Amino acid sequence: MSKNRLPVILFKRQPVSRLTRQYPGARVDVSYPAEVQSFRAEVRAVLAEELPPGWAGIGAIALREDAERFAAQWRQALYRRGLLGITWLPEYGGRGLSRLHQVVLMEELAWAGVPYGEHTDLFGIKMLGSTLLRWGTEEQKARFLPRILSGADRWCQGFSEPGAGSDLASLATRATLDGEHWVIDGQKTWTSVAHRANWIFLLARTDPVARGHRGISFLLCPLDQPGIKIRPIRQLTGDSDFNEVFFTGARTPADLVVGPPGDGWKVAMTLLGHERGDEAATNPILFRAELDRLLALTAERGRDRDPLIRQRLAWCYARVEIMRYLGYRILTQVHSGTELGAAASVAKLYWSEYHVAATELALDIQGLDGLVPQGRGPLRAVRTDDPGAPNSSGSWLGAFLNARAGTIYAGTSEVQRNILAETVLGLPKERREHD
Ligand SMILES: Cc1cc2nc3c(=O)[nH]c(=O)nc-3n(C[C@H](O)[C@H](O)[C@H](O)COP(=O)(O)OP(=O)(O)OC[C@H]3O[C@@H](n4cnc5c(N)ncnc54)[C@H](O)[C@@H]3O)c2cc1C
Repeated sequence: MSKNRLPVILFKRQPVSRLTRQYPGARVDVSYPAEVQSFRAEVRAVLAEELPPGWAGIGAIALREDAERFAAQWRQALYRRGLLGITWLPEYGGRGLSRLHQVVLMEELAWAGVPYGEHTDLFGIKMLGSTLLRWGTEEQKARFLPRILSGADRWCQGFSEPGAGSDLASLATRATLDGEHWVIDGQKTWTSVAHRANWIFLLARTDPVARGHRGISFLLCPLDQPGIKIRPIRQLTGDSDFNEVFFTGARTPADLVVGPPGDGWKVAMTLLGHERGDEAATNPILFRAELDRLLALTAERGRDRDPLIRQRLAWCYARVEIMRYLGYRILTQVHSGTELGAAASVAKLYWSEYHVAATELALDIQGLDGLVPQGRGPLRAVRTDDPGAPNSSGSWLGAFLNARAGTIYAGTSEVQRNILAETVLGLPKERREHD
């Protein structure tokens, strides 16, 4: 191979069959069960029917407003075709399918370059819906789950406070029972999409005497009321994706507590498990598509002969491949019904730190041009850029700035390392003020 050409491995995925031929001792079976494959065919048929001809991915829609409009219509198409909440039971609007079916759905959507739901669906479907299935009363499930799927209720998450982030148990928002209602006072912060939501799930202290994890309740509260003010926070990307939410005598019905009052910590931990979640298996598809764009950018900018850039590209390629195999491992756990535990922390740490380095490389390749945004920025670049996005500077700059957020939300990188140190390496537990 000429030393001036990128090694071919950068452009071609190694099929697993070739790996097993090269290493005959290795027995890797990454095939899916037949019933899951027939579901894949159903999803492909829906995509073929619902997507416009010549579809190139949501990133290829030039104007932000058009992309937002498409995302809203697409979400309703998924709902209409029975592809939202597929693991939920039919009585709550789902189809009672397995988590492996969900992974296959996510794979097909990622390959097609379309989102799974809209901004608030992460909080409604993935976090709250899955948590209500585990902890909700029959009345709560029957009332809220179908409305989450139809889009009638749009949820946001009120956990973090100015004095409680990584150390969530320090939260100070209070809720007191007053007849038929909880009365809530306090402040939440970094509340993503609160300006698009009409409900918030929140953690509040309902027992003023108990300390630490004890005495916290998980409440459901309507946002549209005089006791709640939402103030946007402006980010360095120029967008305002999250907010401060102020509660001053806000009220919610007494029966809208999830799990036993005072025992909301367990409910919150179930929810955070869903937040770190099982997209570990589908993330590599998106990161791979983004890496292909990075390779194209390198060639467009004539940087493909620079040995230092090649070295960094090779590093990115290796990381995405490792992520793919971490994904297969997680799939195996998902399929066997094992809780993800430390694997969720490994995956979260791995993709978020990778994305900071990969987007830094994109900006280094673009040089000063990269700092002059041209073209549409990403709609949602926390995990990767929108699939199908062109190599405009605006797109990479947006992804670069947002990549930092990935190392913070759903538990910072330092917190993930602490979890791994304690649960995998068996190091002594860290002492906390309220232990
Ligand atoms: C894009 C984005 C969206 C978000 N959306 C929401 C939302 O919708 N709802 C919501 O409730 N919250 C949301 N958050 C908030 C997020 O959960 C918190 O930012 C996160 O938990 C960290 O808390 P903090 O910002 O208070 O930082 P801190 O906890 O104050 O941490 C500051 C620094 O100290 C480090 N640190 C803290 N504790 C330790 C420790 N024990 N050991 C080593 N280092 C430590 C951290 O890693 C970090 O670098 C969002 C955040 C982001 C970035």
